Amino acid sequence: MMRGFALCGLSAVLLVAAASATALDRRAIDYGAERAAIEEFQELDQRLQDVGWKLARSNADFCQETAPSIGLQLQDMASYGSPDIARKALGLIQDFAVQTAAQGSPSALSGAFWRNREIVEADGANMSEWPASERLDWRRLVRAHDALDTGLTSNGEVTFRFSDASKETVKPVTVCRTRFELSGEGERAVADGKRVVIGSRFYGFTYSEELFAAAVAHELAHNLLRHRDWLDQNGRKRRNVRTTEREADKLMPWLLANAGYDPAAAGRFFREYQPSSGGGFLLRGSHDNWEKRAKVVEAEVPRIHSLMKREGRADWSGHFARMIEPENAR
Ligand SMILES: [Zn+2]
Repeated sequence: MMRGFALCGLSAVLLVAAASATALDRRAIDYGAERAAIEEFQELDQRLQDVGWKLARSNADFCQETAPSIGLQLQDMASYGSPDIARKALGLIQDFAVQTAAQGSPSALSGAFWRNREIVEADGANMSEWPASERLDWRRLVRAHDALDTGLTSNGEVTFRFSDASKETVKPVTVCRTRFELSGEGERAVADGKRVVIGSRFYGFTYSEELFAAAVAHELAHNLLRHRDWLDQNGRKRRNVRTTEREADKLMPWLLANAGYDPAAAGRFFREYQPSSGGGFLLRGSHDNWEKRAKVVEAEVPRIHSLMKREGRADWSGHFARMIEPENAR
């Protein structure tokens, strides 16, 4: 976990290509290549959203903070380096379209939210009419996602209107309250209390789904265990950071088991990934070495197996031994 990062959900793939293309003769722009670049980014986002959804949905009964969700991510042309080019590459008239619908989520099950499908209205609002700066404006997309969440909480459903005038009303299900975002930059996975942000160059994307899920589960664990609040209150001494890292590690196999993954994938993640114990952006020694981390998570597995056998779920809200005093987090 790293604190204080400043990333956003914008799809930055076009940032370089399209920003430089604005100065060129428009006839020279290869819209097919621009679209392919966007789709490549969306493929990674899809993998993140699919895994994030499984983890956040299947653990909802045990999370302190939950939210209604339909598992839909939007995209806003204003967030691109060159909105005109992105709009044309995707064949849109206005600015909003489907980015991803997480596998198994209400939006995916409805069959109405295929990738890049233009959305004209959500909850009666034409989001493209909301003000935005000329380019690289990610705030409007955040506003759109916030509005969806607010609508789902107060109305228990949300209705979308598409560019072909058809409509779709979707009802949410309950998930652990965390957003998953793919960042166009960076190779790190971080958690900030409300979001899990994974860089598009994160090495975990090269792993199998369950090992990638283990990495996402570690970041999600930081949010579910409210580590940011706890560190705010107790200070970011190396010892405190290390304790929160250990606790996040320990929760990984629990989150994985509920999501239908092998809880032992958490240990395999450390053995395969062998993350360094510090240095660079991390405090030296803020994480144990990977062998110790693997052993710590593997020690949780027998308990999880017996709970899964007995109850069909790994209730970490009742059975997980905390390493910090969570009351201090409030
Ligand atoms: Zn961490």
